[in-house]
Amino acid sequence: MVPALPRDQVKGGFIYYDCKTDDVRLVMENLIQARRYGAVPVNHCVVRDLSSGGGLGRSVVEDTASGTHFEIEARQIIVAAGVWADRVEALAVSDAHPRLRPSKGVHLVFRRDAIPVLEAGAFIPDAEKRRMLFVIPWLDHVIVGTTDDAYEGSLDHPMVEQEDRQYCLDALNVTLDLHLDESDIAGAYAGLRPLIASERDATADLSRRHAVYEIAHGITGITGGKMTTYRRMAKDAVDGVAEVLGISARSKTRWIRLGSRDVGALTAAVDRRCRVLGLDREVGPNLVRCYGDRALDLLELAGAEGLTAPLVPGMRPIQAEALYCARAEMATHLGDLLGRRTRVTLTDPEAGIGRDSSAAAVLASELGWSDEEVERQRDAHRAEVEAERGLPLHPAPLRALRADAAVDAG
Ligand SMILES: Cc1cc2nc3c(=O)[nH]c(=O)nc-3n(C[C@H](O)[C@H](O)[C@H](O)COP(=O)(O)OP(=O)(O)OC[C@H]3O[C@@H](n4cnc5c(N)ncnc54)[C@H](O)[C@@H]3O)c2cc1C
Repeated sequence: MVPALPRDQVKGGFIYYDCKTDDVRLVMENLIQARRYGAVPVNHCVVRDLSSGGGLGRSVVEDTASGTHFEIEARQIIVAAGVWADRVEALAVSDAHPRLRPSKGVHLVFRRDAIPVLEAGAFIPDAEKRRMLFVIPWLDHVIVGTTDDAYEGSLDHPMVEQEDRQYCLDALNVTLDLHLDESDIAGAYAGLRPLIASERDATADLSRRHAVYEIAHGITGITGGKMTTYRRMAKDAVDGVAEVLGISARSKTRWIRLGSRDVGALTAAVDRRCRVLGLDREVGPNLVRCYGDRALDLLELAGAEGLTAPLVPGMRPIQAEALYCARAEMATHLGDLLGRRTRVTLTDPEAGIGRDSSAAAVLASELGWSDEEVERQRDAHRAEVEAERGLPLHPAPLRALRADAAVDAG
């Protein structure tokens, strides 16, 4: 079922996947559920110091929005800092031996009409590296990735280099008989995998397992693993800490559902509400996918505030999402909304700050930003996106297509 690009026209070993998309934004859903169980999530806060004493773990945290610091003392602190785990551990134990060997992954995002596949697939462009490249239809776009290269640079600013882009473009052009160049790239992002170091050389071979370990009395660390094993990681960390504390409670993660209790009923209710509000037919499914059961609250807000227009013309997110993310999801920066809540950054060549975007205006009115602050937010977001993409932002036409897939590609 690949209407636009028949399989017999694809060169080499292109493997097809069957996959579905009823995914939700995983981190946000986890935080919202955690809050229901008593957690107090904070945003834009950085652990600056970590120590232990008197049977307790202690950390000094900076709220980077206000510049203020506060202290936390607990019988157990869990450091779950991903690829930054060694750096945070070193705050408590200055001579700690590094546990991780980061590997860089790069994804490129194209419009569907640039890569006309309707199914997710994978191929191996480089036999020596033995690393698959995935081609994954995602909403109106196709994500291509990922690379897997040993990384020595700054943990905070991995970027898509010209050679990363060329590697993916060449592989796509040869395997799928396409003629893509950099102007076809709608978005690009780079990230670092927290791989547990081993004796083996290639990062693609390093362990995808996770480790739970004691950093100091009252401070436990967890790192490594994969996104797809995150519940197992959480369970191992929580159960380990419960054991250390001598309490019988164990992790509940196995029984906690995320997203929606009844996707069918929710989709029908959202669809009805969208029709009343005169919204495009693609908006409802996108809200269900992104906000689960909370999609109806968001539509309530959209109706009450008259924020039903697209956040960026031609794209699915609506203006009410900016307001909702500020009120219910702790979005305090333009980058929170465009990069880490709606993902507009990944699919809009102008990263959500083009001339017609209302994202900054809606946030400004909710968060009381001055004109200067709006400009500062736009500049900061632009700089962040350009640094990560390794490309200046550029305008390009957008087309609405249908939703599709997500697979474990890393
Ligand atoms: C390109 C790429 C593709 C991938 N593909 C897949 C895939 O297909 N399937 C899969 O299962 N996995 C995949 N992974 C791996 C997966 O993304 C990671 O294993 C996972 O996100 C790690 O989660 P984590 O919670 O341990 O760390 P993170 O998600 O990195 O979270 C760590 C958090 O700690 C915070 N932090 C760091 N230092 C401090 C500090 N001092 N104070 C406060 N906070 C701090 C960071 O800001 C961050 O929010 C991929 C990774 C990459 C980079």
